[in-house]
Amino acid sequence: MTQLTNWAGNISFESPLERPQSVPELQELVAGSEKVRVLGTGHSFNTIADSTGTLVTVADLPQVIDVGDSGVTVSAGLRYGEITAALQSKGLALHNLGSLPHISVAGACATGTHGSGDTNGPLADAVNAITFVTAAGELVTLTRDDPDFGGSIVTLGALGVTVSLTLDVQPSYDISQIVYDGLPVDRLGSDFAEVMGSAYSVSAFTDWVDPDVMVWRKQRAGSPIDTDWLGARVADGPRHPIKGMPADYATQQGGVPGPWNERLPHFRLEFTPSNGDELQSEYFVPRAKAAEAFEVLRALGKQLAPVIQVSEVRTIAADELWLSPSQGRDTVALHFTWIQDEAAVLPVVTALEEAINPLGARPHWGKVFAADAGYLRSCYPKVADFIELAAKYDPDGTFRNPYLDKYLPLRSQG
Ligand SMILES: Cc1cc2nc3c(=O)[nH]c(=O)nc-3n(C[C@H](O)[C@H](O)[C@H](O)COP(=O)(O)OP(=O)(O)OC[C@H]3O[C@@H](n4cnc5c(N)ncnc54)[C@H](O)[C@@H]3O)c2cc1C
Repeated sequence: MTQLTNWAGNISFESPLERPQSVPELQELVAGSEKVRVLGTGHSFNTIADSTGTLVTVADLPQVIDVGDSGVTVSAGLRYGEITAALQSKGLALHNLGSLPHISVAGACATGTHGSGDTNGPLADAVNAITFVTAAGELVTLTRDDPDFGGSIVTLGALGVTVSLTLDVQPSYDISQIVYDGLPVDRLGSDFAEVMGSAYSVSAFTDWVDPDVMVWRKQRAGSPIDTDWLGARVADGPRHPIKGMPADYATQQGGVPGPWNERLPHFRLEFTPSNGDELQSEYFVPRAKAAEAFEVLRALGKQLAPVIQVSEVRTIAADELWLSPSQGRDTVALHFTWIQDEAAVLPVVTALEEAINPLGARPHWGKVFAADAGYLRSCYPKVADFIELAAKYDPDGTFRNPYLDKYLPLRSQG
């Protein structure tokens, strides 16, 4: 039998994967298990989803995409690409998407996954109701007006097994994606607000050494396309975020308008995304400190060079979800795609965090990071409330794994 691993192949799961076919079957499985973790689509780069007992997927539960008065209710195991196509066919849209449409809705929301855009919160910000199975096997639904709601979406899987989520929707919109080459790297800092505010969703790609930055502007169709912009020029053909990689997997560029779900992700649902042979880290810094963070990264450029494939800069609007990396502050997200060599990457990640943590960097929960529990807890003002909430729905630690015990230990609440 082939070994079950995460998408990147750097984490192996030893527990066999349980595949309940109905919600009652899932409830029975959870109630009868000592330890349970859920595996979404396995796109995290660390042991967050791993289990020392039962490992379960909700992908085989009946699929639901139900549009109602409060938005769209979707089954937790669906991938964004599946629900967005269904929404688009009804003339509806979500506010934003991550770089990849292959990621499950519940898994993405559980880790605070995000796209880009000065006024766009993380994907979890669209959730207005969630239904999950508690350790006792009971079904609980929480909505936005519930006092526990802020702790119940970005959960790292600590509260229970999510079976469905209701997401805010809006009328469908079209986006044109224009790639610019050659933005002078100095201007990323000096003209940061102009660069990142130039479109609905903006990503800037650099390696912190190259003097030229590539910028992907995903703008509402109909807005003017600048040809000469801050010293950058419109790319003469399609681009992949990583220099030299074929652009066939990337979503349509060149300013051709198209539906939001076919432009906001960087990669197409029908292709194998990115290159698979990589690790990722990401840090969330208050947006007001963006220019300072860029200086730190440029100073580290030579140290990053042996292990970096590309770095991506995005923005996220502040939200109020307790463990969301953009909780309480407008954020600049600094992403790193590394080579897939943990031994070489980890010392660089440690050096990077030493340099950037003084700016209040919060690491992505689902990616490679070096921070310890004390530092992580200091990043989140509502962490003690979250731990209390987890204990409410999971008093015996059924949903805990070594990752949670290490980073959010139940006992040192201090
Ligand atoms: C190529 C690539 C591109 C990426 N792009 C982005 C990006 O643009 N932005 C970004 O922020 N991140 C990005 N990520 C990271 C990714 O979005 C997160 O790691 C996300 O959590 C992955 O979702 P998943 O379904 O694969 O979850 P998994 O990795 O399988 O699990 C993550 C967590 O969610 C929990 N979970 C999953 N399903 C449930 C459920 N039903 N109930 C309770 N808990 C559940 C798991 O137990 C675990 O704790 C990317 C990753 C890859 C590999």
